[in-house]
Amino acid sequence: MLGKASSLLRRNIAEKTSALLRPRLQRCLATQASYDLVIVGGGIIGLGTARELILRHPTLKLAVVEKENELSVHQSGKNSGVIHCGIYYTPGSLKAKLCVEGIDLSYKYCDEKNIPYKKCGKIIVAVEKKELPQLEKLYQRGLENGVKDLKILDSKEIKEVEPYCEGVSAILSPNTGIVDWAEVARNYGDDFKKAGGDIYTGYEVTDFTCSPESNRSREKEAGHTHPVTVHGKNAPLSCRYVVTCGGLYSDRLAEKSGCKRDPRIVPFRGEYLKLKDEKSYLVNGNIYPVPDPNFPFLGVHFTPRVDGSVWLGPNAVLAFAREGYKLTDVNIKDLIDALGYRGLRKLMFQYFTFGIGEYYRGIIKSAQVKQLQRYVPSLKDEDVEKGPAGVRAQAMDRDGNLVEDFVFDGGAGDIGGRVLHVRNAPSPGATSSLAIAKMVAEKVQDRFHL
Ligand SMILES: Cc1cc2nc3c(=O)[nH]c(=O)nc-3n(C[C@H](O)[C@H](O)[C@H](O)COP(=O)(O)OP(=O)(O)OC[C@H]3O[C@@H](n4cnc5c(N)ncnc54)[C@H](O)[C@@H]3O)c2cc1C
Repeated sequence: MLGKASSLLRRNIAEKTSALLRPRLQRCLATQASYDLVIVGGGIIGLGTARELILRHPTLKLAVVEKENELSVHQSGKNSGVIHCGIYYTPGSLKAKLCVEGIDLSYKYCDEKNIPYKKCGKIIVAVEKKELPQLEKLYQRGLENGVKDLKILDSKEIKEVEPYCEGVSAILSPNTGIVDWAEVARNYGDDFKKAGGDIYTGYEVTDFTCSPESNRSREKEAGHTHPVTVHGKNAPLSCRYVVTCGGLYSDRLAEKSGCKRDPRIVPFRGEYLKLKDEKSYLVNGNIYPVPDPNFPFLGVHFTPRVDGSVWLGPNAVLAFAREGYKLTDVNIKDLIDALGYRGLRKLMFQYFTFGIGEYYRGIIKSAQVKQLQRYVPSLKDEDVEKGPAGVRAQAMDRDGNLVEDFVFDGGAGDIGGRVLHVRNAPSPGATSSLAIAKMVAEKVQDRFHL
């Protein structure tokens, strides 16, 4: 009798406490902003993906979080600004497909938004006869990839396009252009906000946690339907799903949800020279070398900018910090991380002389100018000055191979099924951004059944 009374009393107290606590829990959850999906990274890939997702799912609540106080200040704001046509990439590869699709989408988008661009064209120039087979191979690749209006030029025709350029033959791509990719990315952000999305800048994500699957039904009852928490120094955000597009930090973000570190991001700085304003008449459009198939980068080129300046470069040297835009920028953690990686050591061993040459040309301006004079012989040392730099997020495997393809990952445990990491969005990521965004949005739909 006494036992029955005490159990009744206990149940009564439990019900009362739970009734008292439920609104408190709900209030507490209500103060923590909650979203269906949070996108980490306010570069052109994160913003493009956010825009695509909100256009496809207008009823979902979405947010972008970016660690810097402004959007697109890293790769998306520090690049050559070329709207690439897709010549270089292996036929049938995602890179080729997304670039060829991306160039048309980019021009259409810039027209719709009145974003200034210039279809100034591009020539890839062979300066020696021994480069002709490689030039022909590139031309065939371009045709296979469906690149529009490609043409082979002889030395006289090169002069008609670029009067100061010398070469034996060249590929002309009249459809190649230039644009300020940071402006394009900011427009993606504006579209996202207009469609109801939230953007948090100055929000560095430090971790993700997920309440265990076993608690889910109890939490649902308490009105808690957003099991993932995105942590940072700012107030945490709760959400159902997360997509990360972290550029130079994509491997470290992936690790937070239990993914392997590989492929590792190795930062390669690209340093530019600038033509002095009074010498910008030397260049009309983009002038590129025939890339050496033995080396992983395209080689230094002449790139006009939409603001009228002309950039020369970029080279490719290991950066001593993930966001190390100057030779003197050193981050011990990043440096140990890079040099301790077997993949980088293998690559450095393979390209040792090339690597040293790149550092030398980065420091000694005249050595870089000498390279460029192969294409524009009238260029002089005094015509150029130091320019800005960008850092490429180069994904690399343990064997030192540069990862060309897109890598998606989730991770382990309860969080693994609720996160999608875009671990590698290689160049020409800006040109391909709208096409990449569509691909990521489809991946998100398949994975999270939105
Ligand atoms: C030197 C250079 C030249 C290039 N030239 C061209 C070109 O001419 N044409 C072309 O099409 N492509 C070019 N590219 C490639 C293109 O710029 C990139 O593919 C593209 O910008 C990648 O965009 P992203 O959004 O992935 O990376 P990012 O622009 O680097 O954006 C990633 C964002 O994530 C944020 N982030 C990282 N960690 C966190 C965290 N923990 N919390 C919150 N936010 C975080 C970063 O602050 C950053 O803003 C070039 C790249 C470089 C470096």
